[in-house]
Amino acid sequence: MASVSAPQMRFVVTVDDPGGLIQEIATLQRVVDFFGEEGAPASFFVIPRGEGGWQLDRQEEWLAVAQQAEQQGHDCQLHGLDHAGYEFGPYPAFIFGMGGQDPKERLRLAREEAGHLWRRDLYVEKLETAIEIFENAFGRRPQTLRTGALSQTPELYDAVADVGMRYVSNMIVNPRGWEYIGGRYDTDVDWDPDVPPTPYYLRQAVINLPMISEYAWKLTPEKIDKHLALAIEDLERVYAADGVFILICHVQEVGADHPHSRVLLHRLLEAAREDYQVTFMTVRELIADIESGEMPVLEYKPRITEGGYYSGN
Ligand SMILES: [Zn+2]
Repeated sequence: MASVSAPQMRFVVTVDDPGGLIQEIATLQRVVDFFGEEGAPASFFVIPRGEGGWQLDRQEEWLAVAQQAEQQGHDCQLHGLDHAGYEFGPYPAFIFGMGGQDPKERLRLAREEAGHLWRRDLYVEKLETAIEIFENAFGRRPQTLRTGALSQTPELYDAVADVGMRYVSNMIVNPRGWEYIGGRYDTDVDWDPDVPPTPYYLRQAVINLPMISEYAWKLTPEKIDKHLALAIEDLERVYAADGVFILICHVQEVGADHPHSRVLLHRLLEAAREDYQVTFMTVRELIADIESGEMPVLEYKPRITEGGYYSGN
């Protein structure tokens, strides 16, 4: 447990999937209100396009909620373009393995289906389209990219630099959260040694803001204590590592009719506040700390495996 005089750990709540994938305004509003009441501003990773011709810059009512949220201290960033298919490469092994499937077989099938599209020039085109829609909607460019289902190949990060973005938030420190989602509580999966729990350089011009894990996906009342225990353990470890705790959760779960995700997150945020005296901040504020030099960025040379940044490959 942290002592009061220790430096404060930064804690960043990020929320995926509002927009093209989860279009309901009431769901977004419920999540905005929840994190507002918790005193922990959220950074929403917004999907620019979705089914039924949904497009971010044409959704006035939706945008009004998002813009009001920003005025209240929340933040919006970019979550891919369509969040469909393998738009920026295959999914990480811990996502391909959900539901007990063989990740290597799923990688093979994904390559067969979309591998010919995993090219730097096509990534640039998609990113430019996504950025344009975001810019039309918010009147500014997004600072940070996270892709749908964390799809990625190494060329993605060259494309990110090509379009002038400096930040991604696309890798997971502790994939154990996804093992728990699959009910595998006896797993020996642990922190990914290639993903340090603090901002680091992926390319000379691209900084990764790694997420720690997802603890609040499709919970039932019986699961809450186990997932919370993992979250608290990670909190202690990130603190000990002098890292930044970037939480990933999902708008459709935090904003669901059932309260399970909110119950877990309330307890996690309470522990972060009371036992670790964290400073809650948005992605935008974290980037401001990086750019002012207050938050150091690790010089780190990530291992590049055959399939790119694809743990378990
Ligand atoms: Zn997503």
